[in-house]
Amino acid sequence: MSPTPVPAPCDTLVHGAHLVVDRDLEIPGGWIALRDGRVAAVGGPADPLPAAAARIDAGGRLVTPGLINTHHHMYQNLTRAYAPAINGSLFDWLTALYPVWAQLDVDDVEVSTYVAIVELLMGGCTTSSDHLYVHPRPGFLDAQVRAARTLGFRFVATRGSMTRSVEDGGLPPASVVQDHDSIMADAEAAIAAHHDPAPGAMTRVALAPCSPFSVSERIMVSSAELSERTGVRLHTHLAEDHDEDDYCAEVYGCRPVEYLERVGWAGERTWLAHFIYPSEEEVARLGRAGVGATQCPSSNMMIGHGTMDALRWRELGLTVGLGCDGSASTDSASMWMETRNALLLGRLRNGPASMRARDALDLATRGSAACLGWEDEIGHLRPGACADLVVWETHPVALAGALTDPVEGWLRTGPARAWHTLVAGRVLVRDGEPVAPALAEVLTAHRRAAVRLQAAALG
Ligand SMILES: [Zn+2]
Repeated sequence: MSPTPVPAPCDTLVHGAHLVVDRDLEIPGGWIALRDGRVAAVGGPADPLPAAAARIDAGGRLVTPGLINTHHHMYQNLTRAYAPAINGSLFDWLTALYPVWAQLDVDDVEVSTYVAIVELLMGGCTTSSDHLYVHPRPGFLDAQVRAARTLGFRFVATRGSMTRSVEDGGLPPASVVQDHDSIMADAEAAIAAHHDPAPGAMTRVALAPCSPFSVSERIMVSSAELSERTGVRLHTHLAEDHDEDDYCAEVYGCRPVEYLERVGWAGERTWLAHFIYPSEEEVARLGRAGVGATQCPSSNMMIGHGTMDALRWRELGLTVGLGCDGSASTDSASMWMETRNALLLGRLRNGPASMRARDALDLATRGSAACLGWEDEIGHLRPGACADLVVWETHPVALAGALTDPVEGWLRTGPARAWHTLVAGRVLVRDGEPVAPALAEVLTAHRRAAVRLQAAALG
């Protein structure tokens, strides 16, 4: 028998881990070697360790692929727990906040994105999309991309939009809607400036008209055409609320899913946020078309309007991932917490045998990666994947007695936080603290912006 070959030297070696490589591969006492922003090799206790420029001793902790957030509204962290709006319905809540968000400027967007990404990194997230659909001034997407690049975060910026104001039967005020041509021109510019389709990309762009009740049919059709032409993905809110069924019946004369099909969105480049109220037949239909959907557990519970049956939807053929949704509906942005809440919601709905911690982790990694069309490179740690991973920490008091299953222990105890978060092989959270040199300064600017935006409510 020939001896096991010694792996080639690497940039960073994470060792001493319970390593979750993929949905069907875990290595107790495992190690993972990272080189040039990619996973170079994985091994177990019996395999020789490669030489490494830097070593991270996981100290027996759980190591997983980085969690992936497929739905967020980062700018909303400027209006978290906003008292005048917290107890209304979704439509009441939006109506109260739109005038506040109408005051956003470019600096607000940059600092809120920076803070949101740092928060996500601390909760073990290594890739996030953001649905930014309020554009009262130009330059918002550029500001977001700047923040993500400053931090070294893998980011899917979406060019959101709203065209239908109160005057046209929509919800938002006229100050936050734009006309069709301005939106499409800006979307084309954003794709040209920031969309990187290459493997290992740090920035991609998607198109994201806000929802059936805030955009025109024409912008949906034009977005589908631009997606077809450029290959960028499509994202929108769909079937979040029963009010939306009534709205679609009245305005479009059909159900939300039929509307989606009519505007050319029922294809494999589309992923939807929420998707709570389709029929099973509609879920299967969109599943066959290759559509994905994001469950946002905390936001669904906070808004109190139900949640999708995630594993059932997946059984019916739909791709399902997780998201934390807006910072002003969830009021927090921890993908660990969303993963845990997905587990709790699944078991609450379908009983204790219906869902395990590994199922929830799979939604947050493989499922979310597939929603973003990126499952070849992220959401797992097989050799060749992007070097995006998390070494998890749970306080020893909370973890005391959890001995038999490291993945169940990770999600059932807690709260867990990232001890180390690595994106493209770079350490962005180290020993539980974000590596974000400008954080103190950015938090000061963020507070100033939040006070300005909320001035009316603060009296
Ligand atoms: Zn949302």
